[in-house]
Amino acid sequence: MPVIDTPVHIALEEKYGAHNYHPLPVVLSRGSGVYVWDTDQNRYLDFLSGYSALNQGHCHPAIIEALTQQAQRLTLTSRAFYNDQLGPYEKFLCTYFGYDKLLPMNTGVEAVETAIKLCRKWAYQHKKIEENSAVVIVCEGNFHGRTSAVISFSSDFDSKNRFGPYMPGFRTIPYDDIDALNNALSDPNVAGFLVEPIQGEAGVVVPTEGYLQAAYRACQQANVLFIADEIQTGLGRTGARLACDHEEVRPDILILGKALSGGTLPVSAVLADDEIMLVIQPGQHGSTYGGNPLACAVAEASITAIENEKMAANAKEMGQRFRSGLEKINSPHISLVRGKGLMNAVVIDHPNPEAAWKLCIAMMQQGLLAKPTHGDKIRFAPPLIITAAQIDDALTIIKKSLSVLDQ
Ligand code: PLP
Repeated sequence: MPVIDTPVHIALEEKYGAHNYHPLPVVLSRGSGVYVWDTDQNRYLDFLSGYSALNQGHCHPAIIEALTQQAQRLTLTSRAFYNDQLGPYEKFLCTYFGYDKLLPMNTGVEAVETAIKLCRKWAYQHKKIEENSAVVIVCEGNFHGRTSAVISFSSDFDSKNRFGPYMPGFRTIPYDDIDALNNALSDPNVAGFLVEPIQGEAGVVVPTEGYLQAAYRACQQANVLFIADEIQTGLGRTGARLACDHEEVRPDILILGKALSGGTLPVSAVLADDEIMLVIQPGQHGSTYGGNPLACAVAEASITAIENEKMAANAKEMGQRFRSGLEKINSPHISLVRGKGLMNAVVIDHPNPEAAWKLCIAMMQQGLLAKPTHGDKIRFAPPLIITAAQIDDALTIIKKSLSVLDQ
């Protein structure tokens, strides 16, 4: 490949790529651990981690080893045949999370779609809800992906506007509101409650302690499936194996993605027990790439790395250090610091509606990458392998960069 400079790369994407993203003006060409480098060899701390797909850090050696080894042997069989990676991987993940069965998919949103299909079919088969009447309760401010079905219950204008008609069968209630859930559960057609244990894209909205446990119990009482979207919150990110673990909640359907592949390729999974999973029979759901041997090898290595290197415990400790460091900065431009483990965000308080973007540009110039979400919030979610010294470096950069908002 010929060497081309930053503005040329940006211009190429602008001209030939769809305009469905608005990236920071940095062109990355290499990554290792918590760092990435641009085409001019400038180094950055990656505080986005591929929207939490890179919990294990960039190019984790054990994951890359599993990827390259498997890539030289067998990459795809389709599910028309068995392969020698899928069964052992399914056993590994089911044992690790304590479920009867796993259904492998690729992207996160595909796994969400899968969970919705499982829930609806379970409702008709087991709860005896009249066909085509099942309702799934969702929360305001949710983000579960961007397919036509999933945006049908989004409350985000940009995700939804002019992409209708929308799919029926969803009811939206406020997040972190147990009374609203109890009220919604009185409808006998409710089949499931789909929830993010912490709302990531909404700007790391952490619910009141006890909410997940109360919601889980309410669902159990109403014979409604508790469906946890742990695509972003799972796999060590919040300082535990799953965010639901903090409240000892075992979801009826567990949805995983992102860090399940350590940032190497799209790998997602849905876990549930037999009563739910076996409502889907051959021909009723699937994906060409779902359960491919390359993905299975990578996913097992990705979970093993999180476990062996005690990344959840590190996320807990480093998260506390990071949040207390942010509090100490005590900037008038930060109105709120929130988060759990290494899933954190700040809310920017500034008259300029572009202030969060301006701050992200300033941090980029100082060597830290983060991205605004919903205008005034900035998410800080570095790889879980980050050290105390690197957290302190990040805090120094953030403090220095905040001065751009003084002007
Ligand atoms: N669910 C949650 C909670 C997410 O954060 C995301 C992505 O950010 C998704 C689903 C969609 O995942 P994907 O982009 O892999 O389809």
